Amino acid sequence: MKQLRAIRGMNDLLPDQSPAWQYVEATLSELFARYGYSEIRTPILEATQLFSRAVGEATDIVEKEMYTFEDKSGDSVTLRPEGTAGTVRAAIQNNLLNQPQRLWYFGPMFRYERPQKGRLRQFHQFGVEVFGIEGSDIDAEILIMTARLWRQLGIADHVTLQLNSLGNSDSRAAYREALVAYLSERREQLDEDSQRRLERNPLRILDSKNAQTQELLADAPCLLDFLDEESAAHFAQLREMLDAAGVKYEINSKLVRGLDYYGKTVFEWVTDSLGAQGTVCAGGRYDGLVEQMGGKSTPAVGFGLGAERLVLMLETLEVLPESLAQQVDAYLVAVGDVQSAALAAAEQLRDELPWLRLQAHCGGGSFKSQMKKADKSGADYALIIGEDEVANGQITVKYLRSDQQQQTLALTELAALLQG
Ligand code: ATP
Ligand code: MG
Repeated sequence: MKQLRAIRGMNDLLPDQSPAWQYVEATLSELFARYGYSEIRTPILEATQLFSRAVGEATDIVEKEMYTFEDKSGDSVTLRPEGTAGTVRAAIQNNLLNQPQRLWYFGPMFRYERPQKGRLRQFHQFGVEVFGIEGSDIDAEILIMTARLWRQLGIADHVTLQLNSLGNSDSRAAYREALVAYLSERREQLDEDSQRRLERNPLRILDSKNAQTQELLADAPCLLDFLDEESAAHFAQLREMLDAAGVKYEINSKLVRGLDYYGKTVFEWVTDSLGAQGTVCAGGRYDGLVEQMGGKSTPAVGFGLGAERLVLMLETLEVLPESLAQQVDAYLVAVGDVQSAALAAAEQLRDELPWLRLQAHCGGGSFKSQMKKADKSGADYALIIGEDEVANGQITVKYLRSDQQQQTLALTELAALLQG
């Protein structure tokens, strides 16, 4: 039979990669807990309408990136391409919005994109969504929290914060009109994609990677000149709070984000250590979305953080803790007809030393071959049980990473030795 392979752009996470992921997951869940955020887990499959309505019909995601199919009852369902829509749905459906909510999530997302470095079809995002807080203090909090994350992971010098405000829907509409007027006069000079966006989603043109289009945009009307008074004040307060907290940022008036639900604050944390896929974390405010999805009007702000890109960055910059490479502390070698005694001893050790990561050899084999496996396991010591040891209630400790002399001692003394 032809060998089956994983679907393009959907990766296996192999045993040698999982320690880095576990480290990142542990670091983030601890960080979120330290700021009083609670975890939410929503289904991976949702009604297609949820995304077309929340994310927006004219976005790249809904236009061409969704994994959509009919389930057996003929309903159109979609593998979630992002986490905000499902979180909003869950918050409305479960009446979470009577009080402010600080939520976080982690899980797989699916987008039909061209796979490349830092861009997959199944990827993973950490996300934060905060509901019910209007002020810019919460915008500042989630940015201050991410700044702490970069420091904690040792990559603070390799990310920069880009910040913009999209204003309210009226000021955005006014800007949109001015931008379309400016660009329509220069339509032939626009790249093909941008020409198409001119009708469908003109603000996204600001985001174009095309050099000529970017040149054209240099003299285009500036979004920040169109801000309504309230959004301008909100933005000024946010900047003041970031300044006070020592979080550096660059104002980027061309930052728009690819999802329709954003208004007021938008931001991206970008790095130059990943090549073209430089956005590690991105988000903003979406005060209109909850109401638009059928809930009561609720201000909201959040971000998504690409886990593959983050792990790639930690690997590239070589800032992963060295200790991650070691998966076990001790390897139990059992020579001769001692399997039962060895397994029992292993359990006794696990009872006495809960911190000990002990891999017990299974499957027999010579002393030499088992010692080879012990060495390969990365363990610091081999714990050896042979027929003599069983007869005397003892165990032999052999140090694999130092010159220390091996010793044979009572099983009951081993705990004290390893603890010390
Ligand atoms: P990009 O401009 O890179 O396509 P985006 O605007 O589509 O990003 P968001 O929808 O805001 O991204 O998602 C938040 C984060 O999720 C991104 O900043 C990135 O780190 C990560 N991400 C998005 N799409 C992918 C993907 N296909 N593969 C891996 N990570 C992704
Ligand atoms: Mg994208």
